[in-house]
Formats: sequence, C-alpha cells, structure tokens
Amino acid sequence: MADPRIVVVGAGPAGVRAAQTLVEAGLRPTVVDESPASGGQIYRRQPALFRRSYETLYGFEADRAKALHNAFDGLANQVDYRPDTLAWNVYDGVLHTLRDGVAGKLPFDALILATGATDRLLPIKGWTLPGCYSMGAAQIALKAQACAIGRRVVFLGTGPLLYLVSYQYAKAGVEVAAVLDTSPAGGQLGALPHLASRPALLAKGLYYRAQLMARGVTVHNGVVPLEIEGPESVAAVRFRDGGGQDQQIACDAVGMGFHLRSETQLADLARCTFTFDGDLGQWRPETDRDGRTTVSGVYLAGDGARILGADAAEISGRLAALAALTDLGRPVAGHRIEDLRRRQQTMETFRRGLAKAFPWPAGLARSVADEVLVCRCEAITAGDLRAAANLKGAPELNRAKAFVRVGMGRCQGRFCGSAAAEILAETRGEALAAVGRLRGQAPVKPLSLAATRETSS
Ligand SMILES: Cc1cc2nc3c(=O)[nH]c(=O)nc-3n(C[C@H](O)[C@H](O)[C@H](O)COP(=O)(O)OP(=O)(O)OC[C@H]3O[C@@H](n4cnc5c(N)ncnc54)[C@H](O)[C@@H]3O)c2cc1C
Repeated sequence: MADPRIVVVGAGPAGVRAAQTLVEAGLRPTVVDESPASGGQIYRRQPALFRRSYETLYGFEADRAKALHNAFDGLANQVDYRPDTLAWNVYDGVLHTLRDGVAGKLPFDALILATGATDRLLPIKGWTLPGCYSMGAAQIALKAQACAIGRRVVFLGTGPLLYLVSYQYAKAGVEVAAVLDTSPAGGQLGALPHLASRPALLAKGLYYRAQLMARGVTVHNGVVPLEIEGPESVAAVRFRDGGGQDQQIACDAVGMGFHLRSETQLADLARCTFTFDGDLGQWRPETDRDGRTTVSGVYLAGDGARILGADAAEISGRLAALAALTDLGRPVAGHRIEDLRRRQQTMETFRRGLAKAFPWPAGLARSVADEVLVCRCEAITAGDLRAAANLKGAPELNRAKAFVRVGMGRCQGRFCGSAAAEILAETRGEALAAVGRLRGQAPVKPLSLAATRETSS
C-alpha cells in the first residue's frame, strides 16, 4: 500500500513538530512555507549573511530556537520541504501553491494547517501615517533585518508582545519613548492566578516589564489612544492616561498591536466549521483537543488553531500529526497522546489568564470616529461602514463587504476585520457574534491571475 500523502502548511514550531512526528512514524510529509527558512515567527531565522548569536537574537528562547532549527535541519532528507511557497487555496483534497510565480497542486490524504497568527489591529486616528507599524512588523524588522522602525518609538496596544517587543527595542539601544497599554493594571493583577500556571513564562513577562522600568521607560496602563499625530509622518502620540488626563508624547515611530489573531483562511477554504469564542471576541475553526477539524483529513495546529504560544504550538503540532496517523490507521502510542494533552491543558489555563490580563479593547473599536480609515486597502472609513449598516441595512459583515468593499483588498480583512465587526455590531445594536465574520476567499494572498489560470486548467 502506498504511503499516505500528508501535507503540512507552515514550518514554525507547530509545523516542524508535526513533520518530525510524521517522519518518526516512517512517513515523508511535504512541508510548505511561504518564508525562505523554517522557524516561524518566534524562531524566525536571520538572513544568511547575518552573524548574530542565538543568545543575541532569541534571548531566553535561544535554546528552544536552536533545538527547533536543529530538529528541522535534521529532517532535510526525510521531508519534501518547499520554502518560499505560498499555499493560496484548498479544495477537493488538493492544496494549491505558488513558488516563484509557478503554480503547483498538492493532492493530500491529510492536511495539517500550522499557519500561525498575525497582529490584531485597531484603527486609531493617524494609524496610516508613515512610521506606524504593526507590533509584529516592528519585531520582524529588528529580528530579521537588524533595523529599528524609528529612533524614538512609542509602543501602543496590549498583550504580551507589547512588553516583549518594547524590551527588545530598548535592549537593542533604541529609545522607547513610552509603552501605552490599553489594559488596566488591575486586570493584569487579577489574572495572576491563571498566569501562575506557567511560572517561568510569567517570570519572563515580569522581567521584561522590570527591565523597561529599570531603563527609565514609562509604562502607562488603562490608556485610551486618541491620535497618532503627523502631519507628514508620525511625530507624536496623544492619549488619555489611566487617570483621565490627556497627554502627548513625541516620537518618530509607533509599534501597535492588540495581541494576535489566528490565520484561518485556509481552514475556511477547506470548509471547516467555525465557532465564536466569546472570551476573545473572535471566530475560530472548531477542533477537538488533538486538532481534528470538522472536515475529515484536515487538522489544525499552533497559533492557527488558537493563540497559545510557541511551546503549545510544538505540542499541538505533535498532537495533530498523531491524530492524522491514528485516522490513517497507523499505530500510535496512547500514552503519548495523553501526556501531550495533559501538557496542553496547562497552556489553556495560561491562555485564559492572558485573555483576562490583556483584553481586546472592543469599546475602542466601536467608538472609532467616522473619519478614521478602518479598511486601509480599500480606503473605507468607519463612517462608510456605519452608513452601510444604517442606510443599506447590511445585516452581517460579508454583506457590508459587498456594499462598501470593507475587507476586500490585499489584506483580505486580516487587519480591519476585527474592528469592522465591532463597528457593525455596535451600529446595528447586535451582539458581535451576530454579525459573523469575513469568509476566507482564494487567493489568501495576492498573486497574479496567470497563476490561478494555470492551476485551474
Ligand atoms: C509577528 C509575530 C511575532 C511573534 N513574536 C513572538 C516572540 O518573540 N515570542 C513569543 O513567545 N511569541 C511570539 N509570537 C507568537 C509566536 O510566534 C507563536 O506563538 C508561535 O510562533 C506559533 O507557532 P506556529 O507554528 O503556530 O506559527 P508560526 O510560528 O507563526 O508559523 C507559521 C508558519 O506558517 C507559514 N504560513 C502561514 N500561512 C501560510 C500560507 N498560506 N502558505 C505558506 N506558508 C504559510 C508562515 O510563513 C510561518 O512560517 C509572535 C507572533 C507573531 C505573529
């Protein structure tokens, strides 16, 4: 009997451990990743000519990064690895890819989607000015290109990455003008019992914050961002502090992010059922605890399933691979699955703590002023969206998209979808879940028409 065809999308912590588990079972999976090298976001590798040490680049995570890189490099002859390859569509048991402008088709018996996450963003007046970056982009600039986004930077948003990236910038010698966290300090204290489920991780978070303070960086909690001021490019941030006072801080760049959102478009195209997660105010694909989706043969792992962090991504990658092996009738040791599930449960407790400590500021999204651009790809303002809800009667997000093109541009709603849903729900007086979510459409990222023609012929 021929070996099953197993495709893994993503070579971050989840995808690497999934591939490794499949190889250990004697299979040769195909691993597709649009990045030029394995490692994913947290263990992103630097360009070949860069010489920073693991310690410099990954700090506390140096050993984990090295272990993951070595694990994947060690699989070189046992996996069909396709870097620089975008997976842009999936249907009828075939994954559609694109590399160097050449389209490809990968039929599969099992598909493991380990596609990670991107920043969750909130439109703020002035957020489209040159010099305003997403938190992830600010970190990638530093990690991959050894560049800072500015000389005097304000970090704004909420979530663990807010403190990590601010610390990384300060450590690299960049002036961090302030850290502005929309979450109140009280919520973070209240979340400590949950966060204590992973003491080492909690200690790292506290360390980053202490280091910022030791370097004289002011951290404001419970802020309301008012405006990123220009006029030509970022020159200052205006905000209301936790005490209700308006303040202005001069800077030449802003790194902004409100935690993360899962990359779920491929799961959507594979027709997985989604469910609304009230804790996070986000839709995510339904899975069992091992990563099985509602579609036979399609599995999810890592941040693409739910945002649990890198260690959890490694565990879930293994679990998804073991689930696929089980479903394909391959022998799998039950105690191994049980052990991984137990470890994953601790990660879940921690995630609940993070959700409590760093809540998505839904109220800010809902109160975005009419003139602020929400969908920057299509130049749709909050007012346009409200008009669609009121005048045209868009009952849900995809209808609003059809009326005003919100979420129809290059980013396909990745960066405006969360806020657009909040604004629509507020305007219609509906619960967030009632306005639904932007459905994933192929191609998940822009590509040439010629490529799609070739594939469908
Ligand atoms: C920008 C960013 C920076 C982060 N930095 C940190 C950090 O410093 N410390 C920390 O603890 N956590 C960080 N996180 C969170 C952390 O990255 C994750 O918890 C962890 O990396 C998740 O692993 P993963 O394998 O699920 O996904 P990822 O590591 O994100 O890997 C997903 C992989 O899938 C590939 N991919 C996605 N879609 C496609 C597609 N359609 N076709 C082909 N390939 C695709 C991507 O190129 C990527 O390599 C960061 C997250 C983001 C988004």
